Amino acid sequence: MSQTTVELESLLMQRSLTDSQLLAAAEAAADFRILPDATVIKIGGQSVIDRGRAAVYPLVDEIVAARKAHQLLIGTGAGTRARHLYSVAAGLNLPAGVLSQLGASVADQNAAMLGQLLAKHGICAVDGAGLSAVPLFLAEVRAVIFSGMPPYKLWTRPAQEGMIPPYRTDAGCFLMAEQFGCKAMVYVKDEDGLFTGNPKTDKHATFIPKISVEEMKAKGLHDSILEFPMLDLLQSARHVRQVQVINGLVPGNLTRALAGEHVGTLITAS
Ligand code: ADP
Ligand code: MG
Repeated sequence: MSQTTVELESLLMQRSLTDSQLLAAAEAAADFRILPDATVIKIGGQSVIDRGRAAVYPLVDEIVAARKAHQLLIGTGAGTRARHLYSVAAGLNLPAGVLSQLGASVADQNAAMLGQLLAKHGICAVDGAGLSAVPLFLAEVRAVIFSGMPPYKLWTRPAQEGMIPPYRTDAGCFLMAEQFGCKAMVYVKDEDGLFTGNPKTDKHATFIPKISVEEMKAKGLHDSILEFPMLDLLQSARHVRQVQVINGLVPGNLTRALAGEHVGTLITAS
């Protein structure tokens, strides 16, 4: 056993698991990425899939072409059906853990549909994307679809206020990218990226090509195009230090983003 392993082990036996010296020793190992060549893309629920054929078919074509050059982990959002479920369930005063399961069922539905569309290309949806056969799918067909909701279910940590689960599909997809040490995280939505206000309701909103989480918070934009708790995950991330938000309704945007082009908005951890 190496010196650091011995030191870590003795600290682990004696100290609190959040002891600062113990945490520092646990950090000593070299960086390791599980799926460094894969990119996670999230296909928005409300913003993309709910629009049906006009939005989804062109993206399917882009995904099929793109996987020749890129390994893709494709996560799905939930969207309007989930919002409807949340409104009914919250009206019944059901807790966050129950709403989380209801929302997950809609992200599952979207993953199932995307799976049917990509089936003839050998790309399918997997249950519980927490690895299992994912590396095999990536090696064989270079893409796999997963349901974007993080599987916290009844163990969802409730938000400070209300019963809407705070970590939904934006966070679920980000955590996949970060934990697997993926190359990039791309959010495919229905606006060109982040604006100074919601472009659907604010005519004077202007486009922001690049911004840090801190700047977003300072401008009061933290609760806008991405679920805001996800921004804290980004700020403390080790591997994925920026995410890209693109307009998936514009043909070619996904392909360009995957090629490393700066389309849409880059949101950086620092
Ligand atoms: P998803 O379908 O991935 O869940 P959402 O619909 O939750 O995506 O989020 C995208 C939406 O966020 C956009 O359609 C846009 O109307 C809204 N939005 C709110 N504020 C902003 C902003 N400042 N810039 C861009 N979009 C914003
Ligand atoms: Mg959303």
